[in-house]
This record gives sequence, C-alpha cells and structure tokens, in this order.
Amino acid sequence: MHPELKAHPDYFRREIVQLADNVYQAFGFAASNVYMIVGDDGVIIIDTTETTAAAANILAEFRKITDLPVKTIILTHTHRDHVSGAAIFAGDDAPQVIKSERNSDDPLIDATEHPRATKAMQARTKRQFGIGLSYPDEIIGIGVGPGDRPLKGMGAGMMEPTRLISDDRTCIALSGIDLELVMAPGETPDHMVVWYPEKKILFSGDNFYRSFPNLYAIRGTAYRDFDTWADTMELLMGFKPEVLGPGHTKAVFGAAAIRDVLGDYRDAIRHVVDATRAGMDAGLTIDELAHAVKLPPELASKPHLREYYGRVDFAVRAYFVGTMGWFDGNPTSLGALSPKDEAERMIRLAGGGEAVWGEIGTARADGDYQWALQLLDRLILVDMDGDRARLAKAEVLRDHAVGQINCPTRHYYIQCARELEQSDD
Ligand SMILES: [Zn+2]
Repeated sequence: MHPELKAHPDYFRREIVQLADNVYQAFGFAASNVYMIVGDDGVIIIDTTETTAAAANILAEFRKITDLPVKTIILTHTHRDHVSGAAIFAGDDAPQVIKSERNSDDPLIDATEHPRATKAMQARTKRQFGIGLSYPDEIIGIGVGPGDRPLKGMGAGMMEPTRLISDDRTCIALSGIDLELVMAPGETPDHMVVWYPEKKILFSGDNFYRSFPNLYAIRGTAYRDFDTWADTMELLMGFKPEVLGPGHTKAVFGAAAIRDVLGDYRDAIRHVVDATRAGMDAGLTIDELAHAVKLPPELASKPHLREYYGRVDFAVRAYFVGTMGWFDGNPTSLGALSPKDEAERMIRLAGGGEAVWGEIGTARADGDYQWALQLLDRLILVDMDGDRARLAKAEVLRDHAVGQINCPTRHYYIQCARELEQSDD
C-alpha cells in the first residue's frame, strides 16, 4: 500500500468535533460528514451520510449533546453519500428537508428524461468505492473518508425535500438561527452551501475536501464544469469564513488557513484548465496531455491537493472531452482499427503469443505493470491463452494497486482483479 494511505485510518478516526458553542461535526463515522447546529427550539442537520447505520451511530452521539427535536435537514447536494441517512435523523420529528431545486446531474439519483447506462454506472461505482473489499488489506479508505465504516442501509434513508431553494442567495431563520443558503455549483450543479454569519462558519459541501478535487469520477460522471468550480472557490473565499466545514475530511480553522486552502484549490483547477487548453491549442492529443500536464510542485505537495480522490490526469482527460469531445485531433484516430484487429496484428508483429508472454514476464519482473496490462489485454481480446491471460491480469492488477495513492484507482484495480478471479471459478 502507498505509504501516505497508511496514515488514513488515524486521520479519519471517529470523533465529534465542536466547531462553535452550538455547532458540531460528526467526523469519521461515514464517508461524509454530518453537522448539527443547536437552535433554541430544535436542531438543524446539514447532510446525512451514505447509510442508515452510520446515521444512527451519529444521531446517538448527537443525542448525548441535546435532546431537542430535529426541525430542519439541509442537503448541500444530492449525492448518495450525503442524503441516505435523512430518515434516521428525521425519526418522528417530521423536519422540513431543504435542498436546491437544481438537478445533481447524477442519473443514479435524479431521474433523467431518457435512460442512461445505469447498470454500467452501478458496476463502476462499486469498483471506485471498493464496496465489499476487505479492510484494511484491500481498502484502507476512500481517499476522502474512512474505509472502516458501516455499509448497512446504503441509500436506504433518503427523503423527499419539502422545500426547494431556487434563488442564488436565500436568507432563512431556523430555530432562532439566521443562515444563508447560497448556490455554489462545483462538484455538482446543485451544490448549495450554508453560511452561518454570526459564527462565521461555512458549510461547503463537496466543493472542498482534503484531496485534489474529483473533477471526473471514474464511476462515470458527466462533465463537471471546471471554470464554474474554480469561480465558486472565489465565491466561498468572499465569505471570509473563520471555520470551514467540508462535506468530507476535517474542518479547517482560521481565516488565513481557509483562504489559503480555497485559493490553492482555485489555482489548481485553473492550472489544469490553462495547461490543458494551451496543449490543445498546440495540437497535443488527449493521451499526450494526460501524461504531460502536472500541477506545479508547490501545489502538488500541499496535503489538500494530494491525489487521494481526484487525479490530475483524469481531470485533463475530462476537460478535453468536456470541451472538445472525443476526437483527439489526430487523423489516424478517425478510423482506428477495432481493438481486436489491432491486437491480432500487434501479436503477429511481435512474433506470436510466446514472444508476447516473454515480454509480459519481463515487464512484471521490472514492475512495469501498465505495459504488462496492455499486453495481456491484447491476448485476452484475441482469446489467445485467454484463461491464463485473465488470471495473470488479475495478479498484475493487484500488484499495480499496491503503489497507487489514488483510492478510486486502487479499488478499481482490486475489484476488477476479484471479478477476473471469480469468473475463473
Ligand atoms: Zn460527497
């Protein structure tokens, strides 16, 4: 396992963190954070986690602090890991449930007019998050949350909103607490942050967390507008918060520290946009840019920009496809051979299957796992020693997973290795 990931169980240790005299963060109980603001006649819950089991654990902790009823639930956005414990917090209290009227752009949550490839999205979601992998050997964390957490009741406690917010900025008084709900599109178009001006606390949803942002999720997401997300970082900085409560990872304290992390986030996104766009204008292809574009070292070394969750090269590819479409600009690509046809010809050119296996053996011995995978895929495509190649691919994926700092990549390799091993049974 990557040495930086070994520190994650300690970082994500469960605790209730007090952000102000009446504001609490449930941290490390689930993939995402839950916040409680205690008002005069009830409490406000911000986000509700991914499972009813985690929500019940958090509610039990909150009940040690206050027994006031839950009067309001506010959802910063409708990704599953933030909306699935709502029914547990609501209990018999019949709270109002507030969210943005905008769509999340996620077909697994919000119905789309026409069908999407949801079966593929579900399979890829399982792989990205490592659902069912064993802790701590196969999954140590999800990059922005703990690996050791309950999975029972995933998606089971969603509630319909009772109030949809449409204005860019809505002032609202809840249980004697004045809050502002502010549209802040970023990770999703429906993001709505919560500003608590009296305590200078900003609840920022998933527009910031301690990782390079997931500008593209390999579970299969539509284009996330990079410029909008960067603009939103400016919007968040404009509140001049003294406490930042993100949807994942620890709260950030102090106006200067918050300005720094939000500014770094903005700069990192803008850098990817500028460098990718410049490369596109210079005629570089998507694959060339995915290898060429890097964060400047002073940004790449920041703890909140490490690639635990998002990856720079994934972002580069997403920006290219999102703004230019699939064609890489190289005329050769306009009529590429089918993968199987290309594989047959390359194996023949290499001197046949035994020569390819020899090269695979050398690559594995050298730790050149990507090359081994690309060769194995060609054998699998033409079904030459298919079973042997599939099992070898599973082994190489597990070997390749060891060095990954990016948790979605690590999990994707291991889940696919499992699928290959199981298909052999
Ligand atoms: Zn989230």
